[in-house]
Amino acid sequence: MIKHDVLIVGAGLAGMRAALEVCRDLDVGLLTKVYPSRSHSGAAQGGIAAALGNSEDDSWEEHMFDTVKGGDYLSDQDAVEEYVKAAPRVIYELEHMGCTFSRTEDGKIAQRSFGGHSKPRACFSADRTGHAILHALHEQVLKNAKSIKIYSEWYMHQLVIEEGRCSGVVVSNIRTGEVEVIHAKAVIFATGGYGRVFKITTNAFASTADGAMAAFHAGIPLEDTEFVQFHPSGLYRQGILFSEAARGEGGYLLNGKGERFMEQYAPSRMELAPRDIVARAEQSEIDAGRGVNGEACIHLDLRHLGEARIMERLPQIRQLGIDFIGVDCVKEPLPIQPSAHYSMGGIPTDMFGQVVIDPDNTPMEGFFAAGECACVSVHGANRLGTNSLLEATVFGERTGRSVLKYAKNAEFGKVNESHERARVLNQIEEIFQRDGSENYNDIRNEMKEVMMEKCGVFRDAENLKSCIAAIQGLKERCKKGKVTDKGKLFNTELYEIIELGNMLEIAEIISTAALARTESRGGHYRTDFPKRDDQDFLKHSLVYPKDGQLELKYKSVVVTRYQPKERTY
Ligand SMILES: Cc1cc2nc3c(=O)[nH]c(=O)nc-3n(C[C@H](O)[C@H](O)[C@H](O)COP(=O)(O)OP(=O)(O)OC[C@H]3O[C@@H](n4cnc5c(N)ncnc54)[C@H](O)[C@@H]3O)c2cc1C
Repeated sequence: MIKHDVLIVGAGLAGMRAALEVCRDLDVGLLTKVYPSRSHSGAAQGGIAAALGNSEDDSWEEHMFDTVKGGDYLSDQDAVEEYVKAAPRVIYELEHMGCTFSRTEDGKIAQRSFGGHSKPRACFSADRTGHAILHALHEQVLKNAKSIKIYSEWYMHQLVIEEGRCSGVVVSNIRTGEVEVIHAKAVIFATGGYGRVFKITTNAFASTADGAMAAFHAGIPLEDTEFVQFHPSGLYRQGILFSEAARGEGGYLLNGKGERFMEQYAPSRMELAPRDIVARAEQSEIDAGRGVNGEACIHLDLRHLGEARIMERLPQIRQLGIDFIGVDCVKEPLPIQPSAHYSMGGIPTDMFGQVVIDPDNTPMEGFFAAGECACVSVHGANRLGTNSLLEATVFGERTGRSVLKYAKNAEFGKVNESHERARVLNQIEEIFQRDGSENYNDIRNEMKEVMMEKCGVFRDAENLKSCIAAIQGLKERCKKGKVTDKGKLFNTELYEIIELGNMLEIAEIISTAALARTESRGGHYRTDFPKRDDQDFLKHSLVYPKDGQLELKYKSVVVTRYQPKERTY
């Protein structure tokens, strides 16, 4: 049995930032199913928010207000306050670790505008910000190789919970296929989001809800899963992201008639309204037949920015357009559509990353979560652009610190190794034994299709009910699938089937929570209940597993400084 003081699953920003705290005094295992620098954090383009005030006066209070308003008042404001206050410090720390930020003329960290932020506060490295931060953190992790052991291309299957306490995880070495138990005093999940559930998504292949579902399978509820963010500018049909930085730098959105339609939807903020509002505006234009050439897309027009500015600030976007569709944004507009981008919901935690399991915030001892897989909740019902890299960094650090404190004084919990291994080996054997005629790729595609159509930018009761029924049908069909590779070495087919199982389960959880929330708030829009309803729904949802079914509970929102009011831009 492998043993570490602390085991972290996920080597994106949150996982690596946490590891750097824990390794100060304890020994850390850092486990990831993809090589660390291939984590989805590395795809982040536009920036990381902090009220540095380098371009205009700014304050943490304004950052906090924008975040709470952007989240349609569902954010827990005590957590938001800690988070925005920490932002400037963590940016300077990243800089000192070696992250190269773009600069102003006088050498300060440059900041640009982003949707829903009333001041330019996105710090950036051209349009490769996530890449720059992820590599800086990876270097620091490698520098601490004595106390951080990386398990690269290992797959986490499930948590070990004994007597109400988390004491490890069960994992596979993808290279050899060996199933192992890792014993730890504390486990941190930093497993990222689950955008791959939707057909059109900006997310990497690894964003498949494994962490969220491992928690759920251990009886832990998932919070606010109905809130999924659709990014306004994914490449048409493919979802590859063109960062909001393109609009932050002054890009226009045009409908098929060549009109800047955001005038109708958010006259004061135009293209820089929060993402939920822009995505709905685009979808409304498309649904009304005003897409470009009658198709389901909108134009992102950057031509007026000129080649020099595009090459300085948005070089990756230009290259993506050229490489994927042969369109050079210096000369032509880019075709875009709303694409599933970010999971506001996740594993419920308090502001120290401690996982909590009920409306009274009872902690699950030894289990922590940070980054996109967690729900603290700073983003509420809708996340503002650039606030997520910040979340992963701030809460990665905070969680690392609280785990260090906890694990230094804790003993190892109990583990029944053979029992835990057997549970996973049986699951794998069950998959190998299936001998039906169903094709897993078809099932995956149908899931993505149905989630996009019926649980997407616009939702209603009828579509959500048929979505849930369709997903349940797909879960049944999965039992009649067939594996072609039954080998042990690098059996990626096996892990994809397990991931598909996780995605089908989270799809049902998302749509069930969405059906129950009969109001519209942030990223969750019900055409049959178009108004926000603070009376009945100023609360977080918690979906629990119960006898093979789903059970819904709710917990209250922490409101401190800013009382809910109407959200207009
Ligand atoms: C294209 C794109 C652009 C973005 N741009 C921005 C931006 O400009 N600004 C911003 O603030 N936010 C942005 N975001 C959001 C932001 O990048 C993410 O929310 C954030 O990086 C998530 O970090 P993380 O550490 O939580 O998870 P990730 O970086 O997603 O890492 C997840 C880790 O978990 C591991 N993992 C998952 N499951 C398992 C398993 N079963 N076993 C082992 N390991 C596992 C993976 O291998 C990976 O290492 C963007 C997102 C996308 C998709």
